[in-house]
Amino acid sequence: MYDVVIIGAGPAGLSAAIACREWDLHVLVLDEFPKPGGRLLGQLHQEPSGEWWNGIQETNLLLEKAQKYDTDIRCGVSAYHIEKLEHGYAIHTNQGSFETENLLLATGAAESAVPVPGWTLPGVMSIGAAQVMTNVHRVKVGQKGIVVGVNVLSAAIARELQLAGVELHSMALPASNPATVQHSNPNTVMDGLVRIAHLAPSAFLRFGSKFAKASWVRRLAVKFYPKGGVKMWGMPIHIRKAILSINGNDRVESVTMCRINADGEQIPGTEENITVDFVCIAGGLYPLTELAAVIGCPFRYMEELGGHVPIHSERMETPLKGVYVAGNITGIESAKVARAQGELAGLSIAADKLKAHADLQQHVEDAVKLVATTRADATIQFHPHITDGRHKMEQAFQQTKSS
Ligand SMILES: Cc1cc2nc3c(=O)[nH]c(=O)nc-3n(C[C@H](O)[C@H](O)[C@H](O)COP(=O)(O)OP(=O)(O)OC[C@H]3O[C@@H](n4cnc5c(N)ncnc54)[C@H](O)[C@@H]3O)c2cc1C
Repeated sequence: MYDVVIIGAGPAGLSAAIACREWDLHVLVLDEFPKPGGRLLGQLHQEPSGEWWNGIQETNLLLEKAQKYDTDIRCGVSAYHIEKLEHGYAIHTNQGSFETENLLLATGAAESAVPVPGWTLPGVMSIGAAQVMTNVHRVKVGQKGIVVGVNVLSAAIARELQLAGVELHSMALPASNPATVQHSNPNTVMDGLVRIAHLAPSAFLRFGSKFAKASWVRRLAVKFYPKGGVKMWGMPIHIRKAILSINGNDRVESVTMCRINADGEQIPGTEENITVDFVCIAGGLYPLTELAAVIGCPFRYMEELGGHVPIHSERMETPLKGVYVAGNITGIESAKVARAQGELAGLSIAADKLKAHADLQQHVEDAVKLVATTRADATIQFHPHITDGRHKMEQAFQQTKSS
């Protein structure tokens, strides 16, 4: 029987494991990927301060600490079911079952699909798949591509592809259809663009993003958006152009792009074919929560957090005794926030288990504050009202506990 089993060896799971091991808990970390690090492994971006955030280096720092505490991390282990026992939980995996008193779910996020005609052709992939192939497996995904979907994640990964020497024609929106409503409306997309412009190398764009905090400025910017797109790192970002289809016989050969009006409607007669051999589709992220559902955690849908999320407190505990959550399963945020949440979850587990250590409570309170300051300082922010979402979630937890 373990004190705690952690599912997910991303930044949240690894930092939770370190915090638990620092308090000498018997910990097992499971991850289905062949190596630990989660989505951190693919990340590479420059902070506004000029410093680089290198996910592989950050993973190595976490792993060094975990190794120092002799942490048991097993990869290639996929958890598919969790069962409630009298005094804990049984986790069923492709490598057998494990019993534990406490359980931390740190399973991260998944990408939402955005259907575009032709998207089943070889050479079409999600933007996250392009990131993993490029930065984790070191595979060049093609000679020249295009990104369909303009959001925080696609901008960050498009830059990573460029840094790896992969040529991108541009980024554009998907054509409007019932499944692409959020992603095909230029006004909605412009609201999101303002949150990434501070990453741009150009002072003009950074200044523009501050100016564009007023919604009337953003509406004007959409109306008069340049036909050639706005260039970020030399690559045009189009929010008044959409991809109608991906074309090819046996694989991607081109895309058909057209101009759209400010409401996202196609302007007839503006279609053009662009030769590319790969296409990355970017539909954003949602919390990966199936295991929390399997075990019976109550859920809330919160747009501010990116989707359906297991109810949890600011200490990362769920209403189920001994079940905790951390990282993107609780809402879509950057790796730094996930790491801080992981540490907090680990300390909460230790505090709940080792009640005699009164000073652990103070560590938990400090860790709660660290999560809040890390969130406030985050360079990459996926959802604009994340702090409101976090407050609502705390209220939901208190309501659930008292009912
Ligand atoms: C494709 C993709 C790309 C991203 N790129 C960026 C980026 O460039 N910049 C950025 O700031 N954020 C990015 N993110 C957001 C990212 O999720 C956070 O930055 C951070 O990695 C979240 O940490 P985490 O520990 O919560 O989850 P993750 O890092 O996603 O780790 C979760 C781990 O859980 C494992 N897992 C899931 N289910 C199971 C199971 N059933 N059994 C066993 N193991 C399981 C996974 O294999 C994974 O290793 C990306 C997310 C995705 C999905």
